[in-house]
Amino acid sequence: MNPKKAIVIGSGIGGLAVAIRLAKKGYKVTVLEKNSYGGGKLSEFYLDAFRFDKGPSLFTLPNLIDELTALVEYPKQFNYFKLDTITHYFYEDGTRVNASADISKFAHEIYVKLEEEEVQVYKHLKRSKYYYDTTADLFLTQSLSQIKNFLNLKTFRGIIRAPRLGLTSTMHKKNAATFKNKKTVQLFDRYATYNGSNPYKAPALLNIIPHLEFGQGAFLPQEGMHQITSHLLNLAAFVGVEIQYNATVSEIIIEKDCAIGVKSDDVVFKSDIVISDADIHTIYNRLLPKKYYPRKLLNQEKSSSAYVFYWGIKGSFPALGLHNILFSDNYKREFDCIFNTDKPDVDPTIYINITSKYCKKDAPENSENWFVMVNVPHHQGTVVNYASEVRKNVIAKVNRMLQVDIEKHIVVESKLDPIDIEKQTSSYGGSLYGNSSNNMFSAFLRHANYSSKIKGLYFVGGSVHPGGGIPLCLLSAKIATQLISDKESTYAVI
Ligand SMILES: Cc1cc2nc3c(=O)[nH]c(=O)nc-3n(C[C@H](O)[C@H](O)[C@H](O)COP(=O)(O)OP(=O)(O)OC[C@H]3O[C@@H](n4cnc5c(N)ncnc54)[C@H](O)[C@@H]3O)c2cc1C
Repeated sequence: MNPKKAIVIGSGIGGLAVAIRLAKKGYKVTVLEKNSYGGGKLSEFYLDAFRFDKGPSLFTLPNLIDELTALVEYPKQFNYFKLDTITHYFYEDGTRVNASADISKFAHEIYVKLEEEEVQVYKHLKRSKYYYDTTADLFLTQSLSQIKNFLNLKTFRGIIRAPRLGLTSTMHKKNAATFKNKKTVQLFDRYATYNGSNPYKAPALLNIIPHLEFGQGAFLPQEGMHQITSHLLNLAAFVGVEIQYNATVSEIIIEKDCAIGVKSDDVVFKSDIVISDADIHTIYNRLLPKKYYPRKLLNQEKSSSAYVFYWGIKGSFPALGLHNILFSDNYKREFDCIFNTDKPDVDPTIYINITSKYCKKDAPENSENWFVMVNVPHHQGTVVNYASEVRKNVIAKVNRMLQVDIEKHIVVESKLDPIDIEKQTSSYGGSLYGNSSNNMFSAFLRHANYSSKIKGLYFVGGSVHPGGGIPLCLLSAKIATQLISDKESTYAVI
């Protein structure tokens, strides 16, 4: 019997992971990718002798990559290491906090630098773990659209504990009630940005995120973030996935409410199932007939976008580590700008990522590769016209807070703005993580990993359940594969 055919639209992390899983299940998988390279947002590029990861820089839950490596019995391990210091925080008044991965050291640092009782840090991280243990199975590892998934014991336990899960308070309120120093509150509020949300609106349940760093660990692949993409590409090749680059899908072919293939450059690719890793806005606006348009799901508030400067820097800066944050002095105003206007604040929080601190090949000797990012609103169709203003504000803040004249050190430069992100990955408005998690129902208002109206059509990636970010995209692939196993009768289900 011929194997069943699967077409995957897009080779982002979710697309590669689902392709690998389906190939392992016996499907003949073809990935069609519009770009000339794989990985979507998780790609890399060079400026002279400087290497840059284009998008993601924080790597958590590496076990999800290990799981894929083991699943296909790939002979080479994926090499990564755990960070001892997670983040270096800088405040405008000169306060500096180094967040050690060792919780007792971290709590002590918070006590010394921010005069916070250590016990409050322990309490907060314990609560974060509780949120994780109680809700991960419920919200992250299964479909929320299948009634049967609500009938198991773990889910039931998660639901009855819901009143204690901080769904009715905001992250910021909970943090302000836990810590007395507003700098500590700001440090923990920042975790809302890990999925592009606003701590002043997002439910306190998002305080689950610090557990990922402090409980599970923050990691870096030995050769930088792009190694995640190259490893997944290796796994895909190992299990026989075919990837066609420069292949833009222009239509999902539907017959009697059933997906029977796709069209790319007027070539028809017939298949038994179609899985989209593209943003759902692209799918419903451009690839499917209007009658399937899920207005309510598409109208949800989007996550933030980013403006990134890639700077090849001459010289080295020992005060900086891999992850560095230069905090805004008015966090509330910054988030108001990101979510209620079309322009970032004049004093944005700046994130600087420098992989050459560990991956020496990423920059020439006595030089560093700076990835300098500020969170900005996703664009709403208008031209992003604040480029020079953002750059000016960023330079001034870096100079002020690091006591440097940074322009003198920049030897090569490039940038990424919300419009670039949309052009390069088709993300709606250049949002980094699909929908925001700014309300308690967000988890239930993400698109499911399958279409309830079109048989044989499935979804993975940051714009669908369980959400954006590398770990969740990997989980979306796992959930979609399970749904495919349940819904499609294949001859080769393991
Ligand atoms: C600047 C930035 C910083 C980030 N930081 C982090 C971080 O630190 N940690 C973290 O975990 N996450 C981070 N993220 C988010 C993370 O990168 C994404 O959530 C994740 O990579 C999205 O993967 P995906 O599977 O949704 O696919 P995407 O990366 O969105 O890729 C989709 C792919 O589909 C292709 N495609 C779209 N339409 C078509 C079509 N019609 N035909 C063919 N191909 C098509 C696109 O070309 C693209 O390759 C960041 C993102 C950005 C941009």
